[in-house]
Amino acid sequence: MWNRVVKFGVVMSGFLCASFFQCIWVAKDKYERLVKNHKTMMHEWTHLKQELDMMVLYAALITILAATGVCSWWWMCGIVFSYLVQYGISWFLQVLLPPYDKAYKDIPMEKEARYSSAHPDYIYTRWPFMWIIFLFIRVNNDGYIVDKDGNVKE
Ligand SMILES: [Zn+2]
Repeated sequence: MWNRVVKFGVVMSGFLCASFFQCIWVAKDKYERLVKNHKTMMHEWTHLKQELDMMVLYAALITILAATGVCSWWWMCGIVFSYLVQYGISWFLQVLLPPYDKAYKDIPMEKEARYSSAHPDYIYTRWPFMWIIFLFIRVNNDGYIVDKDGNVKE
């Protein structure tokens, strides 16, 4: 896992790192801070697993569509962007759907990643597409499942 961390020139200020294209992208000066923070690594690793889920789903969909002549095989190139599109659509839906006040925090992929960072064994027992469950679960900033009033359930 740790060998997938790419030291990158610039990551947007305010963010420690970002995960896509099956790598964790981190600013050069923040690399040490990232790899020493196990919770953040678990968080980002979860995003990479989510991305893999989405790539498999996208590949299956394009295989069916291209094999039946609905679209060109060139659409398979879009596989590298499939997770970013899914993430963007989820974020956009959270902006549209109240009562969520912070769209970024409330998208299911972020909730699963926060949950994973608080539960170190979760990543090893995770099933593909588990982020779907987090559409219906609230997770606080510390990664624990809470009810609608914010009381920790577990
Ligand atoms: Zn995240």
